[in-house]
Amino acid sequence: MAASWFSGQYVLSVVVLFLLLSSFPSSFDKVSCTEEDEMLPRIGIIGAGLSGTSSAYFLRQLFGKKATIDIFEAGKVGGRAAVININGLNYEAGASVIHKNNHYLVEFSQAFRKNTVRLSHSPGMVGLYGTDDILFQTSDWLAITLAKLVWRYGTDFYNIQSWTKNHIFPKFDRIYKFQDQGLSFTTVEDLLGAMGEDMLNMTKHSIKDVLLDAGLSQRFVDEFGMAAMRNNYGQTTDVHGFVGAVSMAGVEPGLWSVEGGNQRIAENLLWGSKATLVEAKVSTVALIKDELGTGSVSYEVEYEQSGKTNSREYDILILAMPLEGTKNEINFVDFPVKVTPFSQPFHKIVTMFVQGRINKTTFGLNSADDFPPDLFTINRDTFFNSIGKQSPVDSHQKPEKSPPSDYAVWKTFLNQVPSEEQVGKLFDKYEDLRFVDWMAYPEYKPNMDLPPFMLYDRLYYVNAIESAAAAMEMNVIGSKNVALLAFNQWQGNFDKIDELHLPSVSNDKSDL
Ligand SMILES: Cc1cc2nc3c(=O)[nH]c(=O)nc-3n(C[C@H](O)[C@H](O)[C@H](O)COP(=O)(O)OP(=O)(O)OC[C@H]3O[C@@H](n4cnc5c(N)ncnc54)[C@H](O)[C@@H]3O)c2cc1C
Repeated sequence: MAASWFSGQYVLSVVVLFLLLSSFPSSFDKVSCTEEDEMLPRIGIIGAGLSGTSSAYFLRQLFGKKATIDIFEAGKVGGRAAVININGLNYEAGASVIHKNNHYLVEFSQAFRKNTVRLSHSPGMVGLYGTDDILFQTSDWLAITLAKLVWRYGTDFYNIQSWTKNHIFPKFDRIYKFQDQGLSFTTVEDLLGAMGEDMLNMTKHSIKDVLLDAGLSQRFVDEFGMAAMRNNYGQTTDVHGFVGAVSMAGVEPGLWSVEGGNQRIAENLLWGSKATLVEAKVSTVALIKDELGTGSVSYEVEYEQSGKTNSREYDILILAMPLEGTKNEINFVDFPVKVTPFSQPFHKIVTMFVQGRINKTTFGLNSADDFPPDLFTINRDTFFNSIGKQSPVDSHQKPEKSPPSDYAVWKTFLNQVPSEEQVGKLFDKYEDLRFVDWMAYPEYKPNMDLPPFMLYDRLYYVNAIESAAAAMEMNVIGSKNVALLAFNQWQGNFDKIDELHLPSVSNDKSDL
């Protein structure tokens, strides 16, 4: 940290020099402009998913149009937001739904309105699958659904919505406010603590305990709570309370996605940032300059492109991809300390797509048409987590061939690739069987390691935020934090790092 302070002083003295020089006429102007440009960092970003592209977008806003911003991508722009093509139509294969309260994603969809048409997801019929049958199902009729919910769960459904509304969303509003004011945090603990001490505390308890403490019934937690964790994170109500709360927020109505696929948000952010995309896999990050006490560091990024190894040098480096659970591991060399001293095992998720017909016998139904569009499982031992009927993301595409009239496209979430027999249990007739494997999100548990956002001087890790919760909006909150942190350290704005003393924020008493 001390090193960065010195660089802040350096920046300040150059600014003073610039001001002095700019008061002289003509011939000095050119010199001062060059010096101003020299003060701009060369920024490298590894990963062009939502985290990397939104980092580029925010960094451009902060550092201005002349800063060099390169973004490396080994696969496709969008990363875990990706589509799969079945019979000529695209479907969301990774991150599929966005919540109406996701401030940044809503903002991006408005900024790139022309390219980001929002598709709303109206809640259809939902079922819960117990040990070997559908034990609860909503109805097409709202009044009947409400009566069934009250019969089975009392006022729990109302209570969970008011819990997220009164206890969770206001805490997110706080972090948005902090970020609007340019405040940044070096660790996930500090960021969660700034949202509210109870947010940090939730990472120390299971969501099961958090929900029971909030007054929800054991039955609701074991059924709806479990269904949400299995569907959203492939895990159970043993996950920690913060990620569990993010997952429960999906119970609220008002979910949407982007026409053409959610990866479009990343594509638009990349375009909007005017960053240079380098389509290459980064293999090594080397610390090549580390002048103790001056804050002057630089990193050499080695990458593989068209069979050749190239390298580029940066003053600020942003890791916008999970360091664990990736097949594109990066070697960190010539650092005096280990920069990744944390272990964050990732949870594998398989998404299975079929075009086919539900096996009514397995689900005890008279007709496959009685199957709810979304079915969630609640038992740890059930081999699938959820099944959902899919709509294509693009209204302009046409199917390649007409499927049988009783077929639909179904997406099933599982923790491992199923056997043929298991597929047959779910679908009695099918074609286009496809699997997508994801190293999806961290394995969550109470008191797990929360990695820092800052791994070394001017080396930042956006995906540290995933230890709190992996979700597109969470990753964007992480990238905004890292962009502000990099900017504040570069500019010497140390009062905006890990500090909460801005008057308009500290006087805010809303729901604390
Ligand atoms: C199946 C599934 C369903 C999900 N559903 C939802 C949902 O409904 N709603 C929601 O909000 N979130 C959802 N998520 C979570 C969401 O996808 C993530 O939180 C978010 O997309 C993470 O974005 P990211 O940019 O941090 O990471 P990624 O999207 O993983 O991007 C990282 C990028 O870095 C690249 N990369 C990695 N290593 C290197 C290297 N060495 N060199 C160059 N490039 C590299 C990768 O190719 C990748 O493109 C889901 C995730 C999964 C897997």
